[in-house]
Amino acid sequence: MKYNYHTHTARCNHADGNDADYVKAAYESGIAQLGFADHVPQPGFEGIFESWFRMKPCETEGYFESIRQLKEQYKDKMDILAGFEVEYYPGHFDSMLSHISTFKPDYLILGQHFTNNEYDGVYVGSPQCTEESMWKYVEQVKEAVKTGLFSYIAHPDLPNVSCSEDIIKKAAYEICAAAIDDGIPVECNLLGLMGNRWYPKKAFFEVAGDMGCPVILGLDAHLPDSFICTQYENHAMKMLAECGITPIDKLNIRRPF
Ligand SMILES: [Zn+2]
Ligand SMILES: [Zn+2]
Repeated sequence: MKYNYHTHTARCNHADGNDADYVKAAYESGIAQLGFADHVPQPGFEGIFESWFRMKPCETEGYFESIRQLKEQYKDKMDILAGFEVEYYPGHFDSMLSHISTFKPDYLILGQHFTNNEYDGVYVGSPQCTEESMWKYVEQVKEAVKTGLFSYIAHPDLPNVSCSEDIIKKAAYEICAAAIDDGIPVECNLLGLMGNRWYPKKAFFEVAGDMGCPVILGLDAHLPDSFICTQYENHAMKMLAECGITPIDKLNIRRPF
């Protein structure tokens, strides 16, 4: 794979390795354009709630300094971008944007992990996710996409709900329609394959294929070694081909600010 826009750093508390190790591994695996999209900081949470899986607001500056220094160091070898993976939390979206805008991130991907504002919602990847929570997730994804700020939708099939394939496909239809309307791809998430998780869901991509929704592969790298696990890319390509999908490789980067 030559393009990956879903790379984390150890700042999020559930990834390992230093920034330079990710860049080195990506370069050695043949990546031409590498995007970091670590879990966005939430300054509005301060005093309310501590989110364990994202960088702290005070780490934002160091994140950009480090990635931009690596960008300079690798400028003759590959292109490096610094962005974020962002949730649409209605009570905190504006304060989050105003914080990150000062650092001029190159792009944002939407990775909606929780409903509502996280601390008052549910993690949709939990097997306890209900159909009602899945629909709330779909609504928040649609609201997020309408802002026009995102370059793609990460793991659009994250809800770990037990319901009929018919209902899964209805939700997929809503998300793909929003993506098509906004002209952005949905991600086929390779971390899901690597971790033998409940996603990527073939039923979702059957709908994406039928609708002609653009799809992009994302490593969702939480370890430098993620770049050498090519068998998952092959697995994803085979599944997508069965759904009539040829994924796009280079992302049309949408600058949010
Ligand atoms: Zn993560
Ligand atoms: Zn991610």
